[in-house]
Amino acid sequence: MKKIYCMLGALLFLLTGCGAPASYQTDFFAMDTFMSITVWARKEAQAHDIAAEAMQRVNALGASLTRHAEKGSIAALNAANGEAVTLDADAYDVLAAAVSYAALTDGAFDPTTAPLSDLWGIGTEQAALPAAEAIAEACTRVDYRNIELLDGNRARLHNGAQVDLGAIGKGYATDAAAALRAGQPMLVSLGGNVGAYGANPKNKDGTWTIGLANPDNSAEYIATLTVRDASVVTSGDYERFFEQYGVRYHHIFDPKTGYPVQGDLRAVTVADPLSARADAMTTALFVMGLEQGLAFCAEQGIDAVFITADHKLHTTAGLRGSLTVHEGVDYALAS
Ligand code: AMP
Ligand code: MG
Repeated sequence: MKKIYCMLGALLFLLTGCGAPASYQTDFFAMDTFMSITVWARKEAQAHDIAAEAMQRVNALGASLTRHAEKGSIAALNAANGEAVTLDADAYDVLAAAVSYAALTDGAFDPTTAPLSDLWGIGTEQAALPAAEAIAEACTRVDYRNIELLDGNRARLHNGAQVDLGAIGKGYATDAAAALRAGQPMLVSLGGNVGAYGANPKNKDGTWTIGLANPDNSAEYIATLTVRDASVVTSGDYERFFEQYGVRYHHIFDPKTGYPVQGDLRAVTVADPLSARADAMTTALFVMGLEQGLAFCAEQGIDAVFITADHKLHTTAGLRGSLTVHEGVDYALAS
């Protein structure tokens, strides 16, 4: 009997020991989306503790950055009628980053699109095409230059501006989760934001393979990107939308027109060590469109894949070696 226990022990050691790390995955709902964080460590307890702490951090950021909750820095800023408000340090950081990305992209990414999201109601049961006058009125309040950053983590909004950090918050949260990994491999998936850090224990060369969704059926992948210590973020017209008179109205607005971007793109993916930057850039590139977007990537050193309505994948030079289009799918690399 003793011998059998010894053999069982040895077998268990072979399965779980030998330095093969244990993993812990936590699934949760935050920032309006399903999220999951997986951590690998030698002991499951350590993997658990890191994943739990990262989840708590993401939840706290969700409460701070949302514009819909009663409490939280960004909700307070939006409710302050133009008065200066002291933000928590994270909210101030994200807001400051958002303003700088808005300047960098000449307002293609603009963290003051809240009046447009409210008016169009995209993702709600009330989603409908608004009157042109209402869109024009909302546009008068959309301009990132109406955000005034002050010392002491304070900020003030001018001209009726309302902040919406929906296009950068999950990226910032991905970075915040990754900062807690204590050198352990971590895979973060916050909605369309993926972060893959450390050496992938399931892959000999340590890299991670991240799928790019089919814009016509987001449950299916059409391609993969191979990365390590990077975040892979996608913005697409299939994430939240409604259709009226055969036109798809989705959740990414052109801040200059007040309409959901209508153009040649279905999705843009950016790979970047910094997820907040990747997140802001996917949104901005989607607004810019293929031609201007590719030129901007070349100028700024951004690694991106653009998926166009004619089922082509256009990649920047930096990702050419990491992108694999699946065989048998109705999509192909642009020549
Ligand atoms: P993403 O999925 O990261 O592209 O973010 C889209 C979300 O950001 C939308 O649901 C809006 O809340 C907000 N948004 C829409 N258009 C823009 C824009 N041009 N710049 C910044 N945020 C935007
Ligand atoms: Mg984004």
